[in-house]
Amino acid sequence: MYACKALPNVSIMRLVRAQGIGLDTVSIQEVELGMKAGFAPDEILFTPNMVPFAEIQRAVELGVHVNIDSIPMLERFGAEYGGSVPLFIRINPHIMAGGNERISTGHIDSKFGISIHQLRHVERVVASHGIHVHGLHMHTGSDILEAEVFMRGAELLLEAVVHFPKVRFIDLGSGFKVAYRDGDIVTDVEELGQRLCTRMERFVEGRDTPVEIWFEPGKFLVSEAGVLLTRVTQIKQTTATIFAGVDSGLNHLVRPMMYGSYHHILNVSNPQGAPHIYTVVGNICETDTFGWDRKVAELRVGDVLAMLNAGAYGHSMASNYNSRLRPPEVLVENGVACTIRRRETLDDLLATQFVPEDDRTDV
Ligand SMILES: *Cc1c(COP(=O)(O)O)cnc(C)c1O
Repeated sequence: MYACKALPNVSIMRLVRAQGIGLDTVSIQEVELGMKAGFAPDEILFTPNMVPFAEIQRAVELGVHVNIDSIPMLERFGAEYGGSVPLFIRINPHIMAGGNERISTGHIDSKFGISIHQLRHVERVVASHGIHVHGLHMHTGSDILEAEVFMRGAELLLEAVVHFPKVRFIDLGSGFKVAYRDGDIVTDVEELGQRLCTRMERFVEGRDTPVEIWFEPGKFLVSEAGVLLTRVTQIKQTTATIFAGVDSGLNHLVRPMMYGSYHHILNVSNPQGAPHIYTVVGNICETDTFGWDRKVAELRVGDVLAMLNAGAYGHSMASNYNSRLRPPEVLVENGVACTIRRRETLDDLLATQFVPEDDRTDV
């Protein structure tokens, strides 16, 4: 399942679907976009958090797989549908994973999932409403390096299957780490695949219902495929450093400021230039540093810079802050470039507002 929040462009979803991959969604809007991209409802898993019940009802109406992540919601679901609509349950296995508090979702203080220690309670709710649990899910966060973390999670979910005999799907979420710098170690998916297969062969022995293992990578599928192209607007020497300003900022790529993520920066216009040390910053009225003390081939005003690993959580987290426009998205496929989202215009900013001569609508 492709976690489309990383890059929710429908053209990308269509490409992903052509590879035989399903869709992992976290909002009803992503579900609807997925269906517009051609996914069948049963190819979509909906894993919302803290949504009103109406959003879950809508997902049931659309026929997608629903993943429930709190006991009150499970009770509500049971009261409404009994066992007529099979569901997934999101378990919080309390595995501390990932390189960063804000992208780690399985730890003890996390708002996600139902604690593995509440399984008895879940069992009671399931039994009293006759709920049909056909999937167990976990997602412990981003940037997990070791296969060991997935194996521990798998072990916990396999133990839980004993209590829910109708389970056919075990979803181990994501968190596959990708390379941001040369030489970065990435999650060894081959090793993980082998270890899981060995474990699953033992698990299915003597069972009459098969169990599928699912994953839902976002970043792993699209991060390295995406590049943010910006243009150098000014070179400014201060007492501290040489700033290179670009026609972009945290409104287009917020990850460095939000998570401290590293995005390698290349001068596409002057790759053979002598390297200098620059601090590359955006044009937003807020500190928006893409990189301190970066060695980049000599920069001149007008040069095009490429920021790597911008495919995941780049455009999808972009905003109109400072009333600046979001850039287009261009898909390069087999050497052919094609615009899959156009550049915004001032009219896009005005489209949802009321200018003085317009009638306002009372809310
Ligand atoms: C964000 C998210 C993912 C994808 O995470 P990546 O780090 O991009 O692979 C998968 N599943 C759920 C439920 C998520 O919220």
